[in-house]
Formats: sequence, C-alpha cells, structure tokens
Amino acid sequence: MRALTLTGNPSSVHAPGRKARAVIEDAREAIAALTGAAPSEVIFTSGGTEALALALRGLPPGPSLISSIEHPCVRAAAPDAREITVSAGGTVDLAHLERLLAESPAVAVVAIMLANNETGVIQPIKDVVRLARAAGAMVVCDAVQAVGKIPVDLQDLGVDALALSAHKWGGPQGVGALVMRHPERLLPILPGGGQERGKRGGTQNTPGIAGLGAAARAVLEQGVTEQQHIQTLHDRLENGILSIAPRARIWGRTEKRLPNTTCVELDGVNQQRQVMTLDLAGISISAGSACSSGKVAPSPVLLAMGASESQARNTIRISLGWASRDSDVDAFLAAWAPLARAAT
Ligand code: PLP
Repeated sequence: MRALTLTGNPSSVHAPGRKARAVIEDAREAIAALTGAAPSEVIFTSGGTEALALALRGLPPGPSLISSIEHPCVRAAAPDAREITVSAGGTVDLAHLERLLAESPAVAVVAIMLANNETGVIQPIKDVVRLARAAGAMVVCDAVQAVGKIPVDLQDLGVDALALSAHKWGGPQGVGALVMRHPERLLPILPGGGQERGKRGGTQNTPGIAGLGAAARAVLEQGVTEQQHIQTLHDRLENGILSIAPRARIWGRTEKRLPNTTCVELDGVNQQRQVMTLDLAGISISAGSACSSGKVAPSPVLLAMGASESQARNTIRISLGWASRDSDVDAFLAAWAPLARAAT
C-alpha cells in the first residue's frame, strides 16, 4: 500500500525515481533470498505466463520437450515441443523422458513444472535435471504453484530457470518473476528501454513488485508453520470427502502432493453443477485450472493421466489458502454432501 503512493519512475535518477528503484531492488533481494538465487538472476515480469514465455522464447532456439501436464502457457510458448507422458498418478514418466532425449540428441530445453496446478502432484525435478544435463539440455521449471507451499531453491533443484507468480503466495495479481542462472543467455521478448538489465523492457510495476517482495518476505518468515496448518486441514478435507463418498476419486493421491490442493472426481455429478452449488453456499472452487474453468473442454491434465472425458468433467479442484480454517472445511463438506448423496 505504501508503494502505491510512490510516483517516481524507477529508471529516473531523481529522488522520487531512486525511492521507487529502492523498493524494486528490495523486492529483488527478497525473491533472491526466497529462491536461493542472486539478485542479478531475478527478472520481474507480469506473471507466470510471461516468465515462461521469456524463458522458452528468449533462450537460443532448439528442440524442446515439455510434460503433457504443463500449464497451457508453456505449450503456447513452445508449440513445437514433444510431450513427455505422465503416470496415472500424474508424475512425469522419467523413462519416457530418457527415451525422447536419446531419440533427439539436440534437445535444447526441457520444461517441467515443479507442482501441478490441478492435482498438486510434485514432479521429480532433480531426476529431470540429471537426465537433461546428461543430454546437454537446459531445464526450465514452472514453480508458480510451488512457491510458499514447498521449498523452491534454484541451486538445490539444479534447474536453469524458475517461473514465479506473486498471487499464488499472497502477492498481487499480474506480477511475477523469472529467476534465471546466466540471464545473459536470454534475449528479451519485450525489448524496450533497457529495464531489467535489458531482459524485459517497459517501466516496472513498482506497486506490484513491492507487493510481491512483501509476500516473499512473509513466506520466508511464516512459510513452514503455515503449511503444517494447511496440511492438517487438507487431511481433514480429504478424509471427510472419502467418508461422505467412499467411491470419490482423489487424483494423484498416491503421489507426493502440495499440502493445499485436492482434485476430486464425483462420479455422475458434472463439475459445473458442483461449482455452482458450492458457489451458492459461498464456497469458491474451480473446475480444472482457474484460467480455463469457464470453458467446457475437459482438463488436458486429467486426460493425460488416463481419465475419460466424463471423469474429467466430473472433477473439481479445491485449494486451501493461508487464511483457511477448520470451519471452511466443515462448510465445504456440508455443502458438498448433498451432491454426493444425490449421486449414489
Ligand atoms: N503455471 C501454472 C502452474 C499456473 O497455475 C499458472 C496460473 O495459474 C501459470 C503458470 C500462469 O501464471 P500467470 O497467471 O501469473 O500468468
């Protein structure tokens, strides 16, 4: 809120400009601390989509591989990429990745998300890095869903680039970052006035970046305790769902998942009906990913995991947040139970 009162352009050398600049550099340090990177490796963007487009289009061109459960913005930024299959649990198939790398030795980039936005399934990024490195490929990792929920560290994961989006961990919408080792390898997709060390032109969104930095510091300070609380709620939610509807299917339940995401299929009850019934009860959930939940197409993520179209159409995604309480889980279960009873 304080940053909204700053009027200086962060590229200007006068005092108000320097004040805005200081806010941006403070946020850059916060993101660097959060992700184990150097401040010079942080490039601010308008969000996850732009960060991934910058990584995938700004690196030297070459064949790329992406998983079949990537966010649509990855597929759009790498339209010619070959796809790596996933298991029925929603984890990337490392043997398939290895085969694809062997078949096309010139692969330049492998793009795999750290955690899936629909199922919460955490991907084996360190194994992906090992295989990609052996084949001489770089790894771009969409960490949009992971920040604030599990540790996300550039060095520890060993990836070349991480894409982040502030609103997933409490910051404002429309701002994010690409954290990139050797950013000098990138060509900007938005060339302009030389901002962000020439990697992303355009006057920075100072208030947005300040909010992103504040949220990053909050994660650094409170992250772990908050996640333990969310994990407890998550277990209560899923046990409650299965005791109301023992035949409900929680996608990815056998895999390592984020502590806040539940993707559940209720046989015979269309997702739109579930979303609307819950909305009337004041509960906001989505069908598939939020950006496509207004559309009618079944989730490509679930289809890639082997779901039928009708299973995908009967699936909703429930996300718990830092402000979620026991009473929210109770309210969800009370509103969802009649739908489950109607289905049996
Ligand atoms: N990647 C994942 C996994 C996402 O969930 C999202 C958005 O929800 C994005 C990328 C795109 O991020 P943004 O909406 O900030 O552009």
